[in-house]
Amino acid sequence: MRVAIIGGGACGLLLANLLEEAKVSYELFEKSLIGRKILASGNGKANIGNIHLEPNQYNQPLGYELVSKYKDKLNAFWKRCGLYTKQDEEGRIYPLSESSLSVLQCLLRKNLHIVENYPITRITRMNQKFYLNEVRGPFDYVVLATGSIASFLPKKQQGFYDFLNGLDVQMTPLVPSLVGFKLVGNLKRLQGVRIKCNAKLIQKNTILYQESGEVIFKNDGISGICVLNLSSYYGRFKDKRDCRISLDLLPGMEVEVESHEALTGLLHPKLCDYLKDIPIQQINSLFHDFSFPIAGLYDFEFAQVASGGIALEEINDDFSLKKNPHIYVGGELLDIDGVCGGYNLMFAFCSALKIGEELCNIK
Ligand SMILES: Cc1cc2nc3c(=O)[nH]c(=O)nc-3n(C[C@H](O)[C@H](O)[C@H](O)COP(=O)(O)OP(=O)(O)OC[C@H]3O[C@@H](n4cnc5c(N)ncnc54)[C@H](O)[C@@H]3O)c2cc1C
Repeated sequence: MRVAIIGGGACGLLLANLLEEAKVSYELFEKSLIGRKILASGNGKANIGNIHLEPNQYNQPLGYELVSKYKDKLNAFWKRCGLYTKQDEEGRIYPLSESSLSVLQCLLRKNLHIVENYPITRITRMNQKFYLNEVRGPFDYVVLATGSIASFLPKKQQGFYDFLNGLDVQMTPLVPSLVGFKLVGNLKRLQGVRIKCNAKLIQKNTILYQESGEVIFKNDGISGICVLNLSSYYGRFKDKRDCRISLDLLPGMEVEVESHEALTGLLHPKLCDYLKDIPIQQINSLFHDFSFPIAGLYDFEFAQVASGGIALEEINDDFSLKKNPHIYVGGELLDIDGVCGGYNLMFAFCSALKIGEELCNIK
């Protein structure tokens, strides 16, 4: 039996380790940089998982089900490959070294069969065997672990999913996720301001999601970790009409001011400047509802993940394609994404564990 893995990221590399351990013959094809997103993750520290698991941390129940089932096996894998980990007060799991390079180096410790700088653009089947780009093969099984267009420059996003042509699989619409919001309003004067506040995603009068944390103003929108999580929930709602972001600038504080001068010393100077044209009677209500209509999300280039991907209706319980059960799909290419906190890498790694188990059983 011979397996082709397309993509040398979180899912593909972990799977290659499992096949190597089980002595299954495989080749991993990577079009550019091995483990690029692992290296970039968690600001270079790699937040590889989280001990707190809740269903709403993923856009689909399957994400939560899989990581809940495989979390112990994932820990055991890290031990096997010599990666020491630790967790912070919020349950986020990091390598003990706090360096994403440690994660990649542990994944590459074994002598993996990797073909670098080799983009796969076409998968064909002949006499029950698969061929990649017409020339690489024959393979009995193919694993699609290509991730998504998130964080790639627009030029590199073009043709990203070409390898799916001819496989007859449905993709759900792709939306940037874990990304900032573009807002309606003239925010130029607030550019660069960072405030700790409570941010709410509101549709008409219903709060869809809220989180506290740092919000960073840009010239046409906002970013920051709690904002990234708001985008994850925003992506899940089909009807996006009348959505706005509301910031509680002074959470838990009851303050009333009688003049613009009184704002000095209470709020960031740029916020005071921004509010100086607003009648003082309105300002007191703005403290807890500093609100902007949503103009949209920033592009994929600035997103950590893509929401959407191969539709879950297309896959069997073992993560193989219904229309082509010798092809498996793992990681972010599937229509499964999570919030910040290690949930996306954790899903990519756990899907590799699942697919690895299936392939090793076939062997
Ligand atoms: C800046 C940034 C920070 C992040 N931080 C975190 C974090 O701290 N915690 C967390 O959980 N998640 C984080 N994420 C998200 C996480 O990195 C991804 O969800 C995860 O890497 C997805 O794993 P994957 O194996 O599906 O895809 P990837 O890790 O993206 O790997 C896919 C690989 O396939 C290759 N490839 C694609 N197409 C082809 C092709 N046609 N032929 C050959 N090779 C191909 C790609 O070059 C890539 O190397 C972050 C993402 C970004 C961009």
